[in-house]
Amino acid sequence: AKQQGRNNFQYYMAPEKTEAQIERFAMEAMLRKALERDELLVYYQPRIHTKSEKVVCVEALVRWQHPTLGVVPPKDFIPLAEETGLIVQLGEQVLRKACAQIKKWQDDDIGLDELSVSVNLSPLQFRQQHLPAVIARILRQAGLKPQYLELEITESAAMQNVNRNILMLRELKEMGVKISIDDFGTGYSSLSYLKKFPIDALKVDRSFISGIHEDPDDAAIVNAIIVLAKTLKLKVTAEGVETEEQYLYLQQHHCDEAQGYLFGKPMPPETFEEWLKLNMTEPDLILSPEN
Ligand code: C2E
Ligand code: MG
Ligand code: MG
Ligand code: MG
Repeated sequence: AKQQGRNNFQYYMAPEKTEAQIERFAMEAMLRKALERDELLVYYQPRIHTKSEKVVCVEALVRWQHPTLGVVPPKDFIPLAEETGLIVQLGEQVLRKACAQIKKWQDDDIGLDELSVSVNLSPLQFRQQHLPAVIARILRQAGLKPQYLELEITESAAMQNVNRNILMLRELKEMGVKISIDDFGTGYSSLSYLKKFPIDALKVDRSFISGIHEDPDDAAIVNAIIVLAKTLKLKVTAEGVETEEQYLYLQQHHCDEAQGYLFGKPMPPETFEEWLKLNMTEPDLILSPEN
């Protein structure tokens, strides 16, 4: 009977797995349709130069405008897009939209002279041999100069297959685009490789910023990363700045740029334009709702 029970147990486990698979297939099909129907939106979050307090860059962050589900955040579809390879097409759409938007803002003269955009690259995109050609084509079609595009790659993607990555990064760099390491401090960076990488900037992960005033270790880590960046002649940006105290700390410790809810959440283009108008007349940077 015990044996039987066990078998029954296994028997009833199987359909659940299938259900999950069906759901996954359905999601994949929906995502594929979303790409065809152009349901992806790009939101923009300001990055503030801590010395001048000006917006120097915006990070492009994808959203999925689903017809019935509403606005879906990246954590709910990026992993699936990665697994299925759809991320390559998705990433190209984001790049295309972001480059066109920045070019438009530059042409419309919205009050920012040297506005750049940073775009997240998935590890799979980064492994595409023809990535530099794809990016060159997108920049050409958008009419955007390469120096206004920054590509964010994660530490773990950068540290895999290092020798090949150095060649890839060099090729991108020769085109004139900028490269930053995202979520820095959460992966396993080898400092000797970091030194060899032709990169421009480090983005300190949000998890360290949030602890600046609660955990002395976090403050020490943030400071160490800033000093490391300076030593390697890299620009350093803090992610996830939510409080005035955190921002002050970063300013005092010469962190070049800050990004976070304190200044603004990721916003659709029209909302960003409104945010910018408000913040250019009001001296104090304010919080804005995400919509
Ligand atoms: P990320 O590149 O590290 O982006 C920063 C994330 O932190 C964004 O989440 C942003 O909304 C959030 N954030 C910014 N400031 C604050 C803050 O002050 N407090 C808090 N709690 N959060 C803050 P989002 O937009 O949900 O994106 C999550 C991740 O999804 C991104 O992390 C990135 O890894 C990925 N992602 C987003 N868009 C793309 C894309 O176009 N391509 C790829 N490959 N990945 C993307
Ligand atoms: Mg990023
Ligand atoms: Mg990040
Ligand atoms: Mg992050």
